[in-house]
Amino acid sequence: MFCKFIHKRFSTLSLAVVGSGPGAIFTAKHLMKKHTNIVVDFYEKFPHPFGLIRTGVAPDHQDVKNIEHEFSHILSLPQTKFFGNVIVNKDTPLNLEILKKNYSAVLLAYGAHGDITLGIKNEDCKGCFNSRNFVNWYNSSFDRISNDKIILNKTEDCVIIGNGNVAIDIARMLSKSFEDLKQFDVGDDVLEIICNNTIKNIHMVARRGVNQAAFTTKEIRELHGVKGLNTYIFEDEIKNSFEADSELQVLPNERRQLKRKVDLVKSFDMINNVNQIKKDGRKNLFLRFLNRPKEIISDNTGTISEIIFNKTKLIKGQAVATEETTSIKCGLLFKSIGYKSHSIFDTVDFNSKSSVIINDKGKVSENKVISDNLFVSGWVKTGAKGVLDTTLREAVDTADTINKQIEGGFLKNKTPNYDEINSLIAKSGVKPISFKDWEKVSNYEIEEGKKKGKIRDKVTDINKVFELIKH
Ligand code: FAD
Repeated sequence: MFCKFIHKRFSTLSLAVVGSGPGAIFTAKHLMKKHTNIVVDFYEKFPHPFGLIRTGVAPDHQDVKNIEHEFSHILSLPQTKFFGNVIVNKDTPLNLEILKKNYSAVLLAYGAHGDITLGIKNEDCKGCFNSRNFVNWYNSSFDRISNDKIILNKTEDCVIIGNGNVAIDIARMLSKSFEDLKQFDVGDDVLEIICNNTIKNIHMVARRGVNQAAFTTKEIRELHGVKGLNTYIFEDEIKNSFEADSELQVLPNERRQLKRKVDLVKSFDMINNVNQIKKDGRKNLFLRFLNRPKEIISDNTGTISEIIFNKTKLIKGQAVATEETTSIKCGLLFKSIGYKSHSIFDTVDFNSKSSVIINDKGKVSENKVISDNLFVSGWVKTGAKGVLDTTLREAVDTADTINKQIEGGFLKNKTPNYDEINSLIAKSGVKPISFKDWEKVSNYEIEEGKKKGKIRDKVTDINKVFELIKH
């Protein structure tokens, strides 16, 4: 009521946001700190808000997922509205032109939902997954691939390409037991499949050396600490990880931190070949360095059976392939080499090489002309890198830019015409889901979870969502 009153009586500053992940919500939060009466409407393609907090962050990282409480507070404010289940792009009736007509400004914060590929033969054969597909699956995302495509019980060896936080999450999820995972928000079907995996050896392979490893000390320590997991490194790969001038490639203030990480890795069991591992029945994690994927071999069923790698050598911190090759036999591959964003509006200037919207401190140009009222935040601004802290810092930067535009008088007060917006959404053939609606689903998930002794039991069927919000 209060919200409607504001909207009807006064012309006000208003912001339309495409996306409702951390990039979107952090920016809105910092904007609303200064402008308490700005109307902020989030348009989100999924029925739920919070982006990768729900569908990316690993279930056993509930400390990170807890940010949902703070985000829920923002979406419950009378001056914000959530339109879940509403996709916005150049082909939808609700497009950039309509948003710009109805709002003082538009913020693009739609994240990075594509995959960087290896660009080698057979990379999409059976048993090969982009990390995004696998992560969406274990997080029971609404767009996840079906269970019958996730076959984890036909091989003892899996390879993870990449060693960043997502690679570490996948390795941890594959290493943990039912007992370790059962209390989190992992679906019963996922638990059944993931905890019955037959994987004994996880080979985590990176092109570069230990100094360049993308994981943090905390992340690798946590993985190494999983019960029932041995961690191994290969002597020659560790030795060759250090160039004569490798110290100089690291900023002086980061050297101590890096040394701590490298010392931790060097403390893991050092071997020369896999025959030297302990025969204690535990799972094995092999941290491999200086290997670049060259070719994927598949068997006669079209399933991955082996990966050939070029050994690399480091030149100024970069991995340069040598003629020497090595191979790992495996029945599963998780390519964890990064997410990438894409352009959703033809007029918005986009750098397809770095997969980001071209921007100056969050200010976006259209057809090469800097726009007064179009902004960007989150991974579509920065590229898919960093953790929530990075996204927060960049969101504050964008919020500051929007503030300057407001203070400079560049943004016109505009009251959204909800009759027009709702009729365009209806034209797309979808029913929008409000935050109150989503809270009903969320509360149901928590209640169902309690019955099973877990944090929440996620709803994965959109029909069930609509059934729950009818009440
Ligand atoms: P997103 O979170 O992806 O949000 C974008 C939103 O836009 C989504 O809700 C999406 O559905 C929506 N959207 C997309 N297209 C459209 C469209 N056309 N119309 C409407 N809506 C659209 N950080 C940590 O600090 N700790 C962790 O443990 C951690 N784990 C991670 C694990 C994984 C697997 C990944 C991928 C990331 C992890 N991160 C972690 C990083 C963190 O998730 C990101 O920093 C953050 O989510 C980026 O926010 P964003 O808003 O840019 O993108």
